[in-house]
Amino acid sequence: MKLYNTMSKRKEEFVPVEEGKVKMYVCGPTVYNFIHIGNARPMIVFDTVRRYFEYKGYDVNFVSNFTDVDDKIIKKANEEGVSADEISARYIAECKKDMEGMNIKPATTHPLATQEIDGMLTMISTLIEKGYAYEKNGTVYFRTRNFKDYGKLSHKNLDDLRSGNRSLLVSGENEKEDPLDFVLWKPKKEGEPAWGSPWSEGRPGWHIECSVMSKKYLGEQIDIHAGGEDLIFPHHENEIAQSEAANGKDFSKYWMHNAFLNIDNHKMSKSLGNFRTVREISEQYDLQILRFFMLSAHYRSPLNFSAELMEASKNGLERILNAADNLKYLSGNAKEEKMTDGEKEQFAKTPQFAAAFETAMEDDFNTADAIAAVFDLVKFANTTAEAEGSKEYAKALFGLLVKLTDVLGLIVEKKEEILDEEIEALIAERQAARKEKNFARADEIRDELAAKGIVLLDTREGVKWKKA
Ligand code: AMP
Ligand code: ZN
Repeated sequence: MKLYNTMSKRKEEFVPVEEGKVKMYVCGPTVYNFIHIGNARPMIVFDTVRRYFEYKGYDVNFVSNFTDVDDKIIKKANEEGVSADEISARYIAECKKDMEGMNIKPATTHPLATQEIDGMLTMISTLIEKGYAYEKNGTVYFRTRNFKDYGKLSHKNLDDLRSGNRSLLVSGENEKEDPLDFVLWKPKKEGEPAWGSPWSEGRPGWHIECSVMSKKYLGEQIDIHAGGEDLIFPHHENEIAQSEAANGKDFSKYWMHNAFLNIDNHKMSKSLGNFRTVREISEQYDLQILRFFMLSAHYRSPLNFSAELMEASKNGLERILNAADNLKYLSGNAKEEKMTDGEKEQFAKTPQFAAAFETAMEDDFNTADAIAAVFDLVKFANTTAEAEGSKEYAKALFGLLVKLTDVLGLIVEKKEEILDEEIEALIAERQAARKEKNFARADEIRDELAAKGIVLLDTREGVKWKKA
């Protein structure tokens, strides 16, 4: 499996730190509002990466944080006259609802920065002891010039960066030793959330949070660290400096970054008024369509959001759902039970679809080509599964379609809603069938209900049911 590593700027073969395991950290959102569709891109992309590793049999430890202490959260709290905790708790809950709508698996752990302050104090102390950090008037800075590899991820020319920022140092407004030094700990201002520390009552800088949460939940050396491309510099560059200086080990083997999502060919921004939240999109579309839209492009290509492209995604997804629906129907209603000889011959051709799907995914997660392989399977199913054929064949094709679409996080099996009255009526019919010793019909009803998520319990007081 090959993936593009921002560090080496090329596609590399994936070799895990520990055999059979993937340790993966994805920088999560700052929770001061509903997430926007730009934030949804890394969530969908890296959830799909995770699903593919799981499909290949890896045990994936997937960690994604919520940044729940930040200037923007404090600002919003002050505007509303509530605590910062209330704001972050509210938007974490809303974010989780959106994630569920997009069928994003919950992370193995979703750490919160505010719950990990002790680890941050420890790492900052270590950095000071090792000469990688210094304190000035209650603020602790990272001493970048002591970290020899600073800049290795972003491939930036540090001298240019330094001279660009030198004016502040010259004017004496800045207490930093070097313009590239960054904050690890800062003293609180009036009304801000704060924690005690040896340097001041204050709060951590953003970068140290991720270094600490990644270390705590995944260890000092991880396989993949990921996020949007805007995080390469300074966030990830600074995380590398902190983690490698403190731990004395290489931090992450692979660095993956998704390109940005634009709207109608413009950068999404509040001032342009083209800002869209996932919640707004969910009022117009099933969020699976948003997911399908995001995966229809390669994650390292910029993606443009527009009404036309969403309509195209809706149609594309519908083709897959219709094929799945048809196969589902034939699985219960085709004429024959067992595969006919002709179908066996057809079925022998189907490994090519999974193979094409895997080839695409193994080439740096080319989801666009993987979707093309799914469409080929859909076309094949539409032309070869038929009412005159067998249930077994339709079932097998359905199973293959579900296996592949599940890696993309697309749910093709429609959840059928069933009313309580209908459940009761079917149970009564099943009881009558049993009385008449028509066990085949009784079993059929049980299966039908099970397919709709209804479990029957035969008790002494009669048949009870519950939703699975
Ligand atoms: P933030 O809450 O700004 O820290 O962003 C959370 C995640 O969303 C980060 O991985 C960002 O890189 C990513 N992100 C923010 N805006 C966009 C965008 N327009 N397109 C793609 N990714 C984005
Ligand atoms: Zn981060």
